[in-house]
Amino acid sequence: MRFDVITLFPELFAPFQSVGVTRRAFENKSVDVRLWPLRDFAEDTYRRVDDRAYGGGPGMVMLVEPLTKALGAIQADQALQGLPAPLPVILFSPAGKPLTQARVQSLAQSPGAVLLCGRYEGIDQRFIDAHVDEEISLGDYVLSGGELPALTLIDAVARLQPGVLNDAASHQQDSFSDGLLDCPHYSRPEVLTVDGVEMAVPPLLMSGHHAHIAKWRREQQLTITARRRPELIEIARQSGALSKEDERFLKTLLL
Ligand code: SAH
Repeated sequence: MRFDVITLFPELFAPFQSVGVTRRAFENKSVDVRLWPLRDFAEDTYRRVDDRAYGGGPGMVMLVEPLTKALGAIQADQALQGLPAPLPVILFSPAGKPLTQARVQSLAQSPGAVLLCGRYEGIDQRFIDAHVDEEISLGDYVLSGGELPALTLIDAVARLQPGVLNDAASHQQDSFSDGLLDCPHYSRPEVLTVDGVEMAVPPLLMSGHHAHIAKWRREQQLTITARRRPELIEIARQSGALSKEDERFLKTLLL
């Protein structure tokens, strides 16, 4: 799959592609990130990409012209590479739909997208109306640009590519993969002493009894989710992700 990123700060993306497990996705080209520096598509000698807003007020607006040229170049390149249809255009915006693991999973199985990183006050609405297929938000707070949201999306998608995580099963156990939060994890030592207090690993995890361990983990997931994010339990229930046994356990919980 490929991501074409339109950005004023391409240098923010370079270091990310050489670290961690996601590096494998870039090295083996299962995720191909192509950067399109917006300033390269600016019209005038000043390489202007923004201007003041009609109607006044503080802050600058990203101009339609350079964005249209960049998108044109991207779509020409996509056609040249034999893509049957242009990839959808995603804009990062606080006004977008909050990003979810479900959306990450569907994108991970798609041919990719054009990722548009806003800066300043945002983008001329006419470019959005004419070319943007989807607006995605990272959450209810304001960042200074769409680059971190783009990197977030690329990271979340890259770790789902086959062969990227050391253990293929590990993302199936992640938070949200079945609509629930993750269970706690423990490693050595078996007993940790903090300020004279001994903290032991839950003994069941050392029992070697896989079915009991799986049941314990599931119950931990249900407990943590019900306490911290009860709305996710409702969503999991509606999507059929909860078994009869899960429902029985939830009834025993004192929230
Ligand atoms: N005036 C805008 C904020 C602009 S911030 C508003 O109030 O909505 C500049 C750019 O940062 C935006 O165009 C967007 O691409 C990005 N951005 C900021 N916060 C974001 C968020 N929560 N999610 C996704 N993108 C965000």
